Amino acid sequence: MKGIKKLLTMAVILALAYGIYQYFHDLAGPELSFSPTEGYINRSTALRLELKDLSGLKNVTVMVTQGENTFTLLQKEYPLGTTSIHENIELDPMLQDGPLEFNLVATDRAYSHFGKGNTTTATFQLERDTRAPMLSVTSRAHNLYHGGAGLIVYTASEPLVASGIRIEERFFPGHAQADGTYLCLFAFPFDANPDSIPRLEGTDAAGNVGNGGFYYHLNRRRFITDTINIDDHFLNSKMPQFQHMFPTTQTPLEIFLKVNRDLRPQNRAWLQEVSVNTYTAPTWSKAFIRQPNTATRATFGDQRKYIYKGKVIDTQTHLGVDLASIAQDNIMAANAGTVVFTDFMGIYGNCVIIDHGLGLQSMYAHLSHIGVQVGESVERGQIIGRSGATGLAGGDHLHFGIIISGTPVNPLEWWDQNWVKNNVTSKLP
Ligand SMILES: [Zn+2]
Repeated sequence: MKGIKKLLTMAVILALAYGIYQYFHDLAGPELSFSPTEGYINRSTALRLELKDLSGLKNVTVMVTQGENTFTLLQKEYPLGTTSIHENIELDPMLQDGPLEFNLVATDRAYSHFGKGNTTTATFQLERDTRAPMLSVTSRAHNLYHGGAGLIVYTASEPLVASGIRIEERFFPGHAQADGTYLCLFAFPFDANPDSIPRLEGTDAAGNVGNGGFYYHLNRRRFITDTINIDDHFLNSKMPQFQHMFPTTQTPLEIFLKVNRDLRPQNRAWLQEVSVNTYTAPTWSKAFIRQPNTATRATFGDQRKYIYKGKVIDTQTHLGVDLASIAQDNIMAANAGTVVFTDFMGIYGNCVIIDHGLGLQSMYAHLSHIGVQVGESVERGQIIGRSGATGLAGGDHLHFGIIISGTPVNPLEWWDQNWVKNNVTSKLP
């Protein structure tokens, strides 16, 4: 017991000695940090001050000057023994948009400078901007199909750091063009509620968000229902390629259900990732090529019922067009662009994705051979690989997809010269 008491007394003496030492030998002012100290602030920007000092904080003053006027935002004395504080600074309501100069002074309780303590000062400029950018849509005739695409052209009253079309939880980024306008290619997603309203939004450097409405007409459509028969032959020949992804599954049917239900959304998340890698302007000018001499085996938006031994075991939406020809057919790039993906992508098997700018990408799936590399520029009609049946494919065919910022859209529109002219190329600056 005695030993513990002795130890405690020693600890208290040491602590006191350290305090006295600090009080007389602390020659540095309070450690001061403020955020932000550069750039723009808006109405909702949180201004935070943090102060620390070992010998204790005495007081702080935060002042802001705009033109001829100076306002005190914070003036505070701290009780003895305050070694660290956080303050939230409120901007004076009298302030206007424009440059602001901040001046901060903080003093500690050290015995230096004949008892006046040490002082830290800081000066910095921030730009106050509370006005949301004004967006005006300059394109007309936004005639959309459910599951299809649209292009909107707009200008903004000030430069935007981000903008685009938001519909439900999806966001389609717009891209600034050399002439000062913005272009945004967007989808009316096949799985969005047809009553949902797409909105244009733009964010300025200060974080103010402006919204713009635009006229559009949505053509509703019914997607067809298709049945796909799954037999043991298909399961036994196709499922081994996915076995390693689902090691806990016991039967080929279990693997199939995992692939169909779990791998599908995962593959769509990949599409979203790939879509970020896009050029800021169109890389093409002519309509897209439909792979020649092929028969359409399935269309975009088909509601597929998967039937095994007479029972419906799953339902999924088909998000491209299936085109069949001879086996190992030479596959053409549908338009000029840059290869952004060449790999095995789950249900799509060996897959090539070509970027055409503004978030528009074409996809070639189930290939038996890939003949291009990521980063390569391709011409419209260039051979990029050979068709096959890799991934979740019953036989040799090309699954052709058009994707806008990660959302698959109906490829038929892009093969239609008139649609492309009326809805895209005629609106380009
Ligand atoms: Zn397909």
